[in-house]
Amino acid sequence: MNILVTGGAGYIGSHVVEELCEAGETVVVFDNLSTGHRAAVHPKAEFVQGDLKDAASVNRLFDDHHFEAVMHFASYTLVGESMAQPFMYLGDNVSNALNLLRAMVEHDVKRFILSSTANLFDDPQRMPIDEQERIVPGSPYGESKFIIERLLHWMDRIYGLRFAALRYFNAAGASPTADRGEDHAVETHLIPLILKVALGQRARITIFGNDYATPDGTCIRDYIHVNDLAQAHILALKALDRGSRIYNLGNGQGYSVKDVIDTARAVTGCDIATEIGARRAGDPAILIAGSDTLKRELGWQPRFAALRDIVATAWEWHRTHPNGYGLDQ
Ligand code: UDP
Repeated sequence: MNILVTGGAGYIGSHVVEELCEAGETVVVFDNLSTGHRAAVHPKAEFVQGDLKDAASVNRLFDDHHFEAVMHFASYTLVGESMAQPFMYLGDNVSNALNLLRAMVEHDVKRFILSSTANLFDDPQRMPIDEQERIVPGSPYGESKFIIERLLHWMDRIYGLRFAALRYFNAAGASPTADRGEDHAVETHLIPLILKVALGQRARITIFGNDYATPDGTCIRDYIHVNDLAQAHILALKALDRGSRIYNLGNGQGYSVKDVIDTARAVTGCDIATEIGARRAGDPAILIAGSDTLKRELGWQPRFAALRDIVATAWEWHRTHPNGYGLDQ
């Protein structure tokens, strides 16, 4: 298939592009490189630098290629930032998706995969969280993804555009080739921050609260390996001919912040210094995905289900790329 991947130079997008290219698909990456890295793009993919904000260039892109499917990752993605700058999210994230959808409709492209989020579940009634859980966006970021899911619902009804929305929990780890991994200009995620302590780039990791109602008092999250997440995109794309679908996507297992630190100590052999800090605003105690629907309907199985494997692949990337993509931006 000829597939457009927006945001294919970013952390998750670049790993999906890797899996698509390795599976023999033809991939065009469209990315403005505001947070992504040119060097993250698989060498077999065509790269077009551009911005979804610019509707004319999006249309040109569709004029120049005959796409059969679109995977949409390009987006602002930080919960905290969205609370400080809501218009970037409720405005740009949504209007950029609309530019993309309009070009798809005008060019008769009928398959779409959305990178959605567990931030839709701010007040879960059951754990693990399955697709029946009520939607309570936790931030303008989550709301922007929910609005796009609703746009897709109408695109399907009116134009027959088939979509899958994959609501990710905590994407983590790095390509087993160690050619690509996580490299954010301002890192906020737990696993890369812990590994930066192991590398000696940071003095210690701050544990955001140890008084939660969990066995060790620290927050529990569902970490899913980024290449497993990528495989789910490929399976979802193949299933679209049988109709649109929405899945929660995680490992189905929860690990506490302390579990992650202990695992990183075992993997790296480094003594990782910690300190207890205040709770981070908006952090729920436990978030675990119910991914049974995805497993049952698409036969998805994680290859890197064990936290140790997830952390080990991340460590291999950070150890071999201590400055991320560095000068190869
Ligand atoms: N966390 C932490 N210290 C940090 C960064 C994160 O204790 O420096 C905790 C955070 O409170 C959450 C978990 O680690 O419980 C995962 O956070 P991350 O930002 O990686 O992902 P999120 O769950 O926000 O998507």
